[in-house]
Amino acid sequence: MANKKINKKNIAKLLGDWSKEFTVFVPSQETGIATIARWDGKDTSFLDWHRNTIVPPKAIFLPPMEEMFSFQKDKQSYHIELPSSDRQKQLIFGIRPCDANAMTILDKTFKDAYEDPYYLSKRKNTVLVGLGCTKPYDSCFCTSVGSSPTNSADVDLMLIDIGDEFLVEGVTDKGRELVNISSELEEATEADETRAKETKDTAYSKVTRQLETKDIDKKLLSSFENQDFWEEIAAKCISCGICTFLCPTCYCFDINDEVSNDKGTRFRSWDTCSFPVYTKMPMENPRKEKWRRVRNKVCHKYEFYPMLFDIIACTGCGRCIRRCPVNWDITQTLDKMPAKVPS
Ligand code: SF4
Ligand code: SF4
Repeated sequence: MANKKINKKNIAKLLGDWSKEFTVFVPSQETGIATIARWDGKDTSFLDWHRNTIVPPKAIFLPPMEEMFSFQKDKQSYHIELPSSDRQKQLIFGIRPCDANAMTILDKTFKDAYEDPYYLSKRKNTVLVGLGCTKPYDSCFCTSVGSSPTNSADVDLMLIDIGDEFLVEGVTDKGRELVNISSELEEATEADETRAKETKDTAYSKVTRQLETKDIDKKLLSSFENQDFWEEIAAKCISCGICTFLCPTCYCFDINDEVSNDKGTRFRSWDTCSFPVYTKMPMENPRKEKWRRVRNKVCHKYEFYPMLFDIIACTGCGRCIRRCPVNWDITQTLDKMPAKVPS
């Protein structure tokens, strides 16, 4: 498919056309915090304010709290009822490349290593329409982890800002099919392609934070037992868990039963390895000291995930840097690491 374009004034019409087939989600501030929420059928003001959401799109696929099943005591046993798996097709409009990359990273755990039915029922029914960044934060470092503000590798359709219009790039078959649903899209010209290239180059150059990630898993491995280093790194962390809750690639969850008389519901809800009480229910937390918990958070992303899946589990979205109440900074931690690559 040759690339298309759409005037920004016509985005509401485009979303309206897609709404006939999909439940459409867009960046929203309706609850007072920027998140991805169901489109109200008219508002496109996010085109002006959206740099990135505070709550990452992972919340659509792995909600902060989710019913797993309900149960009812039935003589000697229990009757189990699963939530409906009849899902309407959904479309997320405006996902940033870093957050789309996070979905590919989460797929490694929830699709490849283990098939999680709750996650997959949503993931398989969702089309991702990316919106390239033009104003990265100074905390963003996506270019250091192999991506860029306009990377289309993990979306189905990609929109690039070219002034009054967006260039629309079909990436997957699912994305190309979206183009046929609406009559709002026009053929892109060579001049549009040139402007899109300029947007991409400019956005790339605006990501100024850099992190050396070559051999980072090996360096972490050789620093693993360096307690002095990890204690110093962890000193100011207050174990609030914000960095992990808002991280688009963190996925730990806890499971609880809400029981009343002889029936109840089992839920899972976000948990974090930053908490001293993490994993306390099945056993004691193996990481009682804070430095061990901070080490785990960093190593999970930059050592364990590369070892298991050959991919860094950090997208460089910078949320953990922007939102930490004590200015703990993962890039500074990794930069300070004293380790050498083992020969
Ligand atoms: S947000 Fe900051 S203080 Fe809170 S757990 Fe993360 S690093 Fe520690
Ligand atoms: S570790 Fe920080 S920068 Fe990396 S994906 Fe998580 S929130 Fe984003």
